[in-house]
Amino acid sequence: MRKATQLIHAGRGKEWTGSAVNPPVVRASTIVFDTMDELKHATAKRGDRVPYYGRRGTATHFALQEAICELEGSAGCALYPCGAAAINAALLTVLKQGDHLLMVDTAYEPTRAICDKLLAGLGIETTYYDPLLGAAIADLIRPNTKAIFLESPGSLTMEVQDIPAIAAVAKAQGICLLLDNTWGTPLLLDAYALGIDICIQSATKYIVGHSDAMLGIATANSQYWPQLREQSYLMGYCASADDAYLASRGLRTLKIRLEQHQANALKVANWLAHQDWVETVRHPALPGNPGHDIFKRDFTGSNGLFSFVLKQGDAKAVQAFIEGMAHFKMGFSWGGFESLIIPNLSIQKLRTASHWPYAGPLLRLHIGLEDPDDLIADLAAAYQRMQPLLLA
Ligand SMILES: *Cc1c(COP(=O)(O)O)cnc(C)c1O
Repeated sequence: MRKATQLIHAGRGKEWTGSAVNPPVVRASTIVFDTMDELKHATAKRGDRVPYYGRRGTATHFALQEAICELEGSAGCALYPCGAAAINAALLTVLKQGDHLLMVDTAYEPTRAICDKLLAGLGIETTYYDPLLGAAIADLIRPNTKAIFLESPGSLTMEVQDIPAIAAVAKAQGICLLLDNTWGTPLLLDAYALGIDICIQSATKYIVGHSDAMLGIATANSQYWPQLREQSYLMGYCASADDAYLASRGLRTLKIRLEQHQANALKVANWLAHQDWVETVRHPALPGNPGHDIFKRDFTGSNGLFSFVLKQGDAKAVQAFIEGMAHFKMGFSWGGFESLIIPNLSIQKLRTASHWPYAGPLLRLHIGLEDPDDLIADLAAAYQRMQPLLLA
């Protein structure tokens, strides 16, 4: 079955949906059993999508978990209240006191905070590595290195990592490979085929897709799934049935939404690339983006998220650019139907293992499902507001 067809059918078996098209929202804490045998069966099968207790999920969660596993080719799927929870649960599944973690330098900022605060406090040491390192990551491995974490493209700056090269090194040394695949989703990047062991997504972004729910997903191959499942359960992680439902619903339109986000974003990115006030555009599908050749090899497409760097502009100039925009709203997160913008004036402060070559401010865009010509007009007007504040 091809991905577009899978997206329509996955997780819609009769055991989850009854006779309706969609799985109903089953809210439950207690599951009741009529016989001792039923209780025994549920206890033995409690990790295998059999109703046991609300924290282990209901049919609404099982339908989503089955769909994600089918789309990714993963062995199991755990749900979390948000993506950040999925990241720390996955890391704590494979790391304990005295262990060493290799974390990509371009990770989502809160992921760095998890390493620097939560993991450091537990006696787990993190070394950040350059996202473009590839097989040279071997030089950073120590006897106690237990995990390598990737995020590709990198947050804000969009460097694309050579996953197979890093996977080959990790496999040879028995090190667990984790990927934050929020940007790729199961549609744009086939994480398990490239050698990932544990794959994380903030479903808050494209899977839910409408900026109205928070949800995290972590999946694993058969080697790591039992550990990930039990660690997440021990930590008490679970998600609401309503949010799991919204994620299942989001899956049905994921492909057509991503295709439109991609087309709109490419149109805006190409326009930006031709403006003389733009230093560079960081979009994985544009030639010149770090790792662009790897992107062409490993990804099947792009989406609505990319960044660009202004040639010049201080905080006041950026303020003039953003305040007064008609369609781009300023806010965190992305992956909904709407366009967003968020500024960053000091990328180098977020990096410790790689050099950021630009002095101008970076603006990250999420290109929504509006007409891209309206978005381009909005950006052109933003430049006109900013221009008088720039140095001659
Ligand atoms: C948003 C995001 C997260 C965190 O997800 P939440 O659901 O907001 O907790 C993790 N990784 C990436 C790449 C993200 O963009």
